[in-house]
Amino acid sequence: MPDNVRVRIAPSPTGDPHIGTLRTALFNYLYAKQHSGKFVFRLEDTDKTREVAGSFDKLEESLSWIGIDPDEGPVQGGSFGPYIQSERLKLYEDFARQLVCSGKAYYCFCTPERLANLREEQTKKKLPPKYDRLCRGLSQAQIKKKIDSNQPFVIRMSMPDNESVEWSDIIKGRLIFNSNDLDDQVLLKSDGYPTYHLASVVDDHLMEISHVLRGEDWLSSTPKHLLLYKSFGWNPPIFGHFPLITNPDRSKLSKRNNNTSVLYYKVDKGYHPMALTHFMVFLGWTPEKIRDFYSIDMLVQDFSLDRVGVSPAVFDLDHLNFLGKKYLSESDLSEIVSMYLSWINDRRHVFTIAEKKFIELYKTNHPASEAMIDVCRRRASYFVELSEQLKVFFGVTEPLVVPNDLTIDGKIDPVSAKKSLTVAKKIIQDIDLKALPKETDKRINVLIEIFKREQPNDLGGQAYLHPSRVALTLCKQSMNAFEFLSVILLLGNGKELMVERLEGFIDRFKS
Ligand code: GLU
Repeated sequence: MPDNVRVRIAPSPTGDPHIGTLRTALFNYLYAKQHSGKFVFRLEDTDKTREVAGSFDKLEESLSWIGIDPDEGPVQGGSFGPYIQSERLKLYEDFARQLVCSGKAYYCFCTPERLANLREEQTKKKLPPKYDRLCRGLSQAQIKKKIDSNQPFVIRMSMPDNESVEWSDIIKGRLIFNSNDLDDQVLLKSDGYPTYHLASVVDDHLMEISHVLRGEDWLSSTPKHLLLYKSFGWNPPIFGHFPLITNPDRSKLSKRNNNTSVLYYKVDKGYHPMALTHFMVFLGWTPEKIRDFYSIDMLVQDFSLDRVGVSPAVFDLDHLNFLGKKYLSESDLSEIVSMYLSWINDRRHVFTIAEKKFIELYKTNHPASEAMIDVCRRRASYFVELSEQLKVFFGVTEPLVVPNDLTIDGKIDPVSAKKSLTVAKKIIQDIDLKALPKETDKRINVLIEIFKREQPNDLGGQAYLHPSRVALTLCKQSMNAFEFLSVILLLGNGKELMVERLEGFIDRFKS
């Protein structure tokens, strides 16, 4: 068991946090907690051209939503700070110059135009784009002259020739690259900012990161990083690369096929955070024993890097929806109600009428409000779907076409339809509300029993319940009549309202 585990998540503030970033954070967090180590959050904001305002807050929000709190980071502080790279610029510059002094890096004065021409020529010749090392041969005097005349420069890494770079990846096993395939990477840009490669290596070293565990898309950076460690004379951390996440058609996970933003699942859809967490942890990891439900603590207990695979993980939205429904319908009801309320309030857009009416009801402490959530959640994978289901209790549904909607376009004869409504009306009129059980499931069962008992011999199949279900819910397709009644009968005037509704439809069948 490794000691002193220090792992990190090092996102760049370039917009809404990506599902892949959150999965990397989760795996790192689980690994750290499992080894009583530290999980560090470092903000890699050195590419100012790609920075999107507000990204950091969204990253923090996403992490805390799924319940993973960094031990060290920009907000938490820690003894290896600052944890925001733009606050560490002097450090990177000093290290870049140190490499120049030791001959492992050099000043490059080539203009963007020259580099563009070079790239164009290489593309024409079907060669991989690479810097031609023109400035690697400049003499000290030439360099001094250019610097004295204020010529802009970058610092590039002197890639060694034909050196094989090998490492044992903790996930992918033994990997070998040849330095001939690597470019003389820019380490320090002309604006004084470091590139990702320099800043990442310097910080991982100074922050005493023991394991760099990141997505496979960073694999091609690892040989460059290992060579940098060697140039500095530092011991590298252990590297591990998590498998790519792909669309169902095996292409790289893209916005086109799936939404890749974590906040889309949190805010726009309203998934249970553990449903998304459960879903994400299975993007690459296969446990020895699968549990139905997970908590973060259970994941800390069960997770193991050995069981993270190498083949790409498919992002299967159906699986997420399956888990979404499971966590919504089987978690503690009061937890779901409060989660739903905070989701409504955090939706950052206008409430639907049903949501508004639900909040009003909830504020009166009415037992029907919890019961509503209890029946709606059984038909929802996320809160938007739950809100959609709620509409049925507040009469904000599509207008019905009578008699077609009640008779399924004439498939049920009008006489049977009318009978269905009449039987339902009688049942509801006779119900003793006080005798109905408090628990939703029991109430539903009592209602099922009554309807079964009162079923006329000559009224079977859909003809018995369909017309009354539609008339009661004012909805062509919705939850079943018993679930609906189990809630609506809790409302003060629920019984009268339902009888009135049924009478209205019976009247329309008279003619
Ligand atoms: N800044 C990189 C990112 O956006 C970090 C990659 C790494 O983990 O080294 O994910």
